[in-house]
Amino acid sequence: MKKKDNKSALQEVAGVENIQRLNRNILPQKRQRVDTTQYVKRILAGDKIYLSKAITLIESQNRKRFDLGQKILKALLPHTGNSVRIGITGVPGVGKSTFIESLGKYYTSQGHKVAVLAIDPSSSLTKGSILGDKTRMEQLSKDPRAYIRPTASGDQLGGVARKTRESILLCEAAGFDRILIETVGVGQSETMVAQMVDFFLLLKLAGAGDELQGIKRGIIEMADLIVINKAEGDNLQPAKLAQKAFQTALHYFPPKKSGWLPKVLLSSALYNKGIKEVVNEIDTYVKLTRKNDFFVQNRLAQDTYWLQEFVKQTILDNFYKNSKYFEFLPKMIKKINKRQITVFEAAEFLLNLQNQ
Ligand code: GDP
Repeated sequence: MKKKDNKSALQEVAGVENIQRLNRNILPQKRQRVDTTQYVKRILAGDKIYLSKAITLIESQNRKRFDLGQKILKALLPHTGNSVRIGITGVPGVGKSTFIESLGKYYTSQGHKVAVLAIDPSSSLTKGSILGDKTRMEQLSKDPRAYIRPTASGDQLGGVARKTRESILLCEAAGFDRILIETVGVGQSETMVAQMVDFFLLLKLAGAGDELQGIKRGIIEMADLIVINKAEGDNLQPAKLAQKAFQTALHYFPPKKSGWLPKVLLSSALYNKGIKEVVNEIDTYVKLTRKNDFFVQNRLAQDTYWLQEFVKQTILDNFYKNSKYFEFLPKMIKKINKRQITVFEAAEFLLNLQNQ
């Protein structure tokens, strides 16, 4: 009788417990696998909700969620790249949102799918936001063929670059074939955007004959197209003068590696004027650079650039995180000032602080 008892109830209970414990251990992994497949499937089907969720994952500070985001991205990589990536920059008020709305609507009317991403350097520099606070692109945001992603904020520029680049890839996997990346001309943001797009467009306003003053030379050098916006009514003549001035100035810049000769066009984004011409210009650029292989080579060069940038950034981050650098920096400066130590010696000391 005793033997029989042992065999029945007790063993069954133990068995149930074991199964539960086993389940608890494998469940997270299993669920993640299902999640990844689900994400990949939905994103490839163009599901904007899943696209948004995936972008949130790649932006996440939570390691597990971040890893899931990377898994999804990796699975989607073979489906990325099929787009024209267009950077749009200009000072606040020049009409970027209005222009992007017009350009976006034009593209969707032609059957394209448009994604708009924004890089807002103000969020990393001042913790405020230039781009994000406005109600922007109302019409485009209602367009089923468009996707607008609010800016990732409160981050370092390096982090913003990674997130934006990965967002571009996710959007491409979701079938968006025109990616518009907007930025304000503050700090390094323009250079950063220029390094992640195929075509870089600078929006300008006509001034009173002083168009070329106060513009960072580097920005003009990066531009594949300059568009003078608000070129309508009384502003049309000054806009035409600005167009001439910029066009002349462009002759003095060295030829571009792409073999492309940048032009200056006029637009009135508010009244949908000049948009078709801009699109034609971008199309011509893509045709030319696909033919001379710059399009593909440039993207490869950009990947190499970002690979090196991220390694550099991570080394820096790890160093500052893991060393007593900030504790010893003022002490070293004092010693240098008192001529007790050379700059080189101080630098070596600070560098050797890692992991101490
Ligand atoms: P952003 O700060 O560069 O994004 O500029 P916005 O798109 O918000 O535009 C700033 C202001 O300029 C808004 O009041 C727009 O309506 C106006 N605006 C934009 N484009 C044009 C244009 O082509 N003509 C005129 N007259 N106003 C424009």
